[in-house]
Amino acid sequence: MPAYFDHAATTPMRPEALDAFVAVQREHFGNPSGTHLLARNARRVLEDARETMAEVLGCLPREVVFTAGGTEADNLAVHGVHEAMGGVVVTVAHEHHAVLNPVERLGGRVVGATSWGTVDLDALRAALDPSVTLVSVMLANNESGVIQPLAEVSAIVRECAPGAVLHTDAVQAFSWLDVASAARDAQLISVSAHKFGGPKGVGALAVRDGVALTPMLLGGGQERELRSGTQNVAGIAAMAVAARLTHDARVDTVVWVGALRDRLADGLKAAIDGTYESAVGYSGEPADRSHKVAGSCHLCFADVESEALLFLLERAGVYASAASSCASGAQDPSHVLAAMGVSRELAQGSLRLSLGWPSTDADVDIALEAVPAAVAQLRRFSVRS
Ligand code: PLP
Repeated sequence: MPAYFDHAATTPMRPEALDAFVAVQREHFGNPSGTHLLARNARRVLEDARETMAEVLGCLPREVVFTAGGTEADNLAVHGVHEAMGGVVVTVAHEHHAVLNPVERLGGRVVGATSWGTVDLDALRAALDPSVTLVSVMLANNESGVIQPLAEVSAIVRECAPGAVLHTDAVQAFSWLDVASAARDAQLISVSAHKFGGPKGVGALAVRDGVALTPMLLGGGQERELRSGTQNVAGIAAMAVAARLTHDARVDTVVWVGALRDRLADGLKAAIDGTYESAVGYSGEPADRSHKVAGSCHLCFADVESEALLFLLERAGVYASAASSCASGAQDPSHVLAAMGVSRELAQGSLRLSLGWPSTDADVDIALEAVPAAVAQLRRFSVRS
């Protein structure tokens, strides 16, 4: 059995979510905007899912806008506020491109990060003024796994750009953090189902009452006019099931996945010289990972090329990634590591091993054998050539 370490890219659907998807698709296939019984049944499924999502996100049911995934939720947040309010949008250099690219397209401001992978709060303060209408700071980073200081961000926003809306991309955070509490200061919150055991192409944006948001998709006026298009009822129902399971088991999951991750990261740092762990440090330094989400093990190996490493690891039955996954599959040097000031040479040897709800001790055992062997092989080769 291969060991899957790419849960931050996507994690398998939880069986209960898959069952819900099939049952709803089969039995409640009506259009939830219709009036007859089948339509009303589909609407009830949709509204039940909305209640669940509202509870786990810490908002009201009417504040949940279903989208076709995290990218759409992020784009709706950035473009929607900018179109409604004008002004300047601000984000951080290490954000996911689903936030970074819309902000850059709108000519917004991008502030730097610290070497510990958090938003640079001084730079943020300097970038804010009353012309700023949106500040977008993710809750947890998809590569480094670093949790961002959202409460401090919110305080700075309230002080320096009091009219601005605070958006947080909680796509990578939901599996590990109680988003309702961690993102309580944000007025817009994005999540994506396939990162926590739901299907791909389904997500949500929590839009707190009073936020001015112009829709991007126009049409039938679904989702309180904020996102037209017939809802993916089965996908949304499955997302809600996965969200509920994730939420209810989270405290325990964080403990046991965190222990697996520590065994993995500590084991690899002890076994491989010249290993740098993002936002933690080189081998030998005390490893406090309380500022990272439990599933994140992100390492860089000196004198190793990620692409070759991933190739050898796949042959050894370990599926991982270097930077975050992107459509082209290209291994460009990571903009997240660059924002943290990690050198290009070191960043070229990066490896993201991300754990998730189905991870096991056996997976970790496989990686603890395979990664040191692959790194040693590549280093032997680079010394000889
Ligand atoms: N935001 C973050 C932090 C992500 O990690 C991802 C996915 O990798 C996205 C947004 C995009 O979500 P989706 O794949 O649902 O479009």
